[in-house]
Amino acid sequence: MNRADTPALKKAMIAAADAIVAAEPELTRIDMVIGDGDHGIGMKTGFTAIRKLLAQTDYETPYALFHACGLCLVKSMGGSSGVLFGTLLIGGLESIRGLDSLDGGDMCAFLCGGIDAVVRRGKARAGDKTMVDALLPAKERMQEALLQTRDIDRILKAAEEGALEGVERSKDMLPRLGRSKGFRESALGWPDPGAVSVSVLMGGLYRGLSK
Ligand code: ADP
Ligand code: MG
Repeated sequence: MNRADTPALKKAMIAAADAIVAAEPELTRIDMVIGDGDHGIGMKTGFTAIRKLLAQTDYETPYALFHACGLCLVKSMGGSSGVLFGTLLIGGLESIRGLDSLDGGDMCAFLCGGIDAVVRRGKARAGDKTMVDALLPAKERMQEALLQTRDIDRILKAAEEGALEGVERSKDMLPRLGRSKGFRESALGWPDPGAVSVSVLMGGLYRGLSK
């Protein structure tokens, strides 16, 4: 698939929201070890709100769709991940302003803008065991894929693959001091919950679009 219009992208966002909601038990289990245990519930709350919003609203453009979804997360979620996942959907909007549909290059620019905004806002560095450790390889894989194709489904597939690589690598990372209730070593062997959420989000978008 080369391009996706607003209805197709809305379908992809709905699939991504369903995937996040379905992942809640796994996210909760991981955040019980790595963090304070609220990540799964926070994500479920935010993406249930998106699901509700999208059931009752249609949007004119991809910009309006992602803007509404990002704001919905910030408003409904609370916690650092509400702001960060909202920033992921809002930070790259300028690159798709005025477009009626997105090809892989547009999607890559949009997501990479969001990823850069999350890095600026959260100030986590690669290896800190955060969602950034899934976002940076997702960005790399998308940019590599873009050298071969401008198909939007191939770009989202690359984003998911990169995120999953990051999830695997995050298992060997120690969280930054201050997180993980002080038991840093107990986090070894477990992935970062926010990184897992990133992979679920990218995978949901990809599968929702290619359905
Ligand atoms: P909180 O940390 O407020 O309890 P959540 O539990 O919902 O929020 O989310 C935790 C996730 O948020 C972590 O697994 C991590 O991926 C991500 N995260 C937290 N702080 C940062 C940060 N400064 N930069 C990037 N990601 C972060
Ligand atoms: Mg938490």
